[in-house]
Amino acid sequence: MKYVQTTCPYCGTGCSFNLVVVEGKVEGVAPYQRSPVNEGKLCPKGTYAYEFINSPDRLKKPLIKKDGKFVEASWDDALKLIADKFKSYRPDECACLASARTSNEDNYAMMKFARGVLKTRHIDHCARLCHASTVAGLANIFGSGAMTNSIGDIAESKCVFIIGSNTFENHPLIGRRVMEAKAKGAKVIYADPRLTPTGKQADLFLQFYSGTDVCLMNGMMQIIIKNGWENKEFIEKRCNGYEELKKEVMKDDYSLENVAKVTGVPADKIKTAAEWFAKSGTSAILYSMGITQHTVGVDNVKSTGNLQMLTGNLGRPGTGVNALRGQNNVQGACDMGALPVVFTAYQKVIDEAAHKKFTDAWKFPDGIAEGKNGYEVTVMMDVLTEKPGELKCLYIMGENPMISDPDLTHVKHALKTLEFLVVQDIFMNETAELADVVLPAACYAEKDGTQTSTERRVQMWRKAQNPPGEAKGDWEIIASLAAKMGYGAQFPWKTSEEVFNEMASLTPSYGGMTYERLSKPEALHWPCPAKDHPGTPILHGEKFGMPDGKGLMTAIPFKYQAERPDKDYPFLLTTGRSIWQWHTGTMTRRSASLEREEPTGWIEMNPEDAKALDVKNGEKVKAVSRRGEIEITARVTDTIKKGVMFIPFHYAECAANVLTINALDPVAKIPESKASAVKIQKIVEVK
Ligand code: SF4
Repeated sequence: MKYVQTTCPYCGTGCSFNLVVVEGKVEGVAPYQRSPVNEGKLCPKGTYAYEFINSPDRLKKPLIKKDGKFVEASWDDALKLIADKFKSYRPDECACLASARTSNEDNYAMMKFARGVLKTRHIDHCARLCHASTVAGLANIFGSGAMTNSIGDIAESKCVFIIGSNTFENHPLIGRRVMEAKAKGAKVIYADPRLTPTGKQADLFLQFYSGTDVCLMNGMMQIIIKNGWENKEFIEKRCNGYEELKKEVMKDDYSLENVAKVTGVPADKIKTAAEWFAKSGTSAILYSMGITQHTVGVDNVKSTGNLQMLTGNLGRPGTGVNALRGQNNVQGACDMGALPVVFTAYQKVIDEAAHKKFTDAWKFPDGIAEGKNGYEVTVMMDVLTEKPGELKCLYIMGENPMISDPDLTHVKHALKTLEFLVVQDIFMNETAELADVVLPAACYAEKDGTQTSTERRVQMWRKAQNPPGEAKGDWEIIASLAAKMGYGAQFPWKTSEEVFNEMASLTPSYGGMTYERLSKPEALHWPCPAKDHPGTPILHGEKFGMPDGKGLMTAIPFKYQAERPDKDYPFLLTTGRSIWQWHTGTMTRRSASLEREEPTGWIEMNPEDAKALDVKNGEKVKAVSRRGEIEITARVTDTIKKGVMFIPFHYAECAANVLTINALDPVAKIPESKASAVKIQKIVEVK
């Protein structure tokens, strides 16, 4: 028996644990006490992160679809088929989806494959669906689109404002830091349409309507300015745009009375929240997809920045705009340039110098994709249905858009228009079912690599067992495919470390990192530009990453969501996660201990709404939107605001995303998964 220390493959917290390996097979998880992130503690998902690894239905051989059925194939045949097909398309007829679940090395390889081998501009991944607004919003106002502070220093905060994040269920080991702060006297303010376990620990609960975030925060800022609680010195020395922001938030639209009406939060609670937040001296904002998944996602993100600049809560321990990333490596996949507008470390593809840098370094004899922005995954789906023939083939690594993307009927229709679909994954899933070729991949326990957590900490995965059957690591598959297409010289790597070193040589914020340095328990937070640089747990200490070093305060007028409840669809649907499941359920639903706890989805409704609908707790109902309908069990609870419904999005059999709207933020192209209009119908059984 041996222990192999690694990093949790689930949420973006980045907890470490030991995999227990018995005679070459992973059989358990044991604490790794020296982790500075989780200090040996784990949430249920981490505790059972070994159960799916040796599931009997892991993919073990490549599969080629023939006459509508998958047939096992050799690697040689599968790769030859893909290579021949890919070569038959023009560059921009192809698109690639990288993955927030796989390693930095895998994402770097996919990014290089897309731009260098296929020469397509169209590469993206599911960060588009969760934190694209963070990347765009924070980069616009601070010059860096990432969580500003570290997880550990949340415990130093004197006031923690959690908005749009069920931290205790979705990032439990970050919730632990909130409780540490609370134990030391910090006030916790929680804004959400549901009284979640996070809200139950809060000192002040603002139960607001999903989609009214900007109104709430503008209202808080008006109170702060009216009372002179703003941090004048910070604003003067470190920010631009204060007068424009002040002009907007001082409008009557954001009077306490109006804000209370729009948000549904009592005026006295909004005032108390503003006072606690502004006067603590050390206040942190924690947010997640409740903020980002809106047509105004970028506005919401910028509002959190406005609030922090106004109160001077940036660049110090216990402060900051802390965007909590939902997937283990969503930060890293973005850092690796698996986005349609940037190479690694957000070097823009339209920047001639950056384009030349990658062209020269990669040495593809026939060049790389032109220096123009490509399509986002949400836009790809629209292009597939609205511009037939423009996109023809898609290569998906470790993603399952058939559960994760909004308006699933539309997604299925879009994927079915493809001439050729390749899916590379560890299990057959709803998207892979539609593929022409399925390639079996190794999971996190079967390969070395790195992932970057929500706090920009880069940590190691370590191989604990061999992959099942003929499955291989993702970058190895990509490199083999590149070689089949005549580009073996550009993918010469023998180890994950070699991939990392190539990536780091082209990526300033990772430039000082090596596997040796990352092997220490602390690992390193980017930016870490030199071999003797200690990493940067807190951003913006002295100045922001903007050209003049100043943060940009921005006037953000409040706008409602794209689809508001009306007489036909009278309820506001919001979606989210369960502590027992993760994302599209591909891994957690194959973990018996997790699946046992919440084996299917549910719809939460307020008792008053349930009474009006004549629905009892545990009864099946039909939830219907303008996109589709599902049957789902009602969970009647007074923890949800009247008029609002909630469905966890993990479950294929009652998929919330059948109902959600594919309306996009105009900048980030993120869909509005957090606010759609639905109606609920009682199912009357005919006896
Ligand atoms: Fe894994 Fe996140 Fe749980 Fe930590 S909090 S054990 S990273 S799922």
